[in-house]
Amino acid sequence: MTGLDCDELVELVTSYLEGRLDRDTERRFNEHLAACDGCDRYLDQFRQTISVLGDDGRRRLAAVSWPFPRACCCWCNDPARS
Ligand SMILES: [Zn+2]
Repeated sequence: MTGLDCDELVELVTSYLEGRLDRDTERRFNEHLAACDGCDRYLDQFRQTISVLGDDGRRRLAAVSWPFPRACCCWCNDPARS
C-alpha cells in the first residue's frame, strides 16, 4: 500500500507546491495525480489561482475551495485571513 487517498493529497498540496515534501511522499503524490483525474484537475486550478492571487490566495484556496469537508481548523488562525 503506497498510494495517497484524495484527503491526504489535499493535506499535502501546499507543501507539494512549496517543494517541502520528502522524496517518497512526493512520489506517492505524483502517483495519485496520475491515477486520479479529480486531484489532477484540482492541482491545475490550484496552481492557476496561486499564479493570479499569490501566497494569500493559496492559503485561502486551501481553506475553502476543496470540495471535501475539512475537519481541521488550523487555517482559522492564519494571520493572512482577515
Ligand atoms: Zn484524488
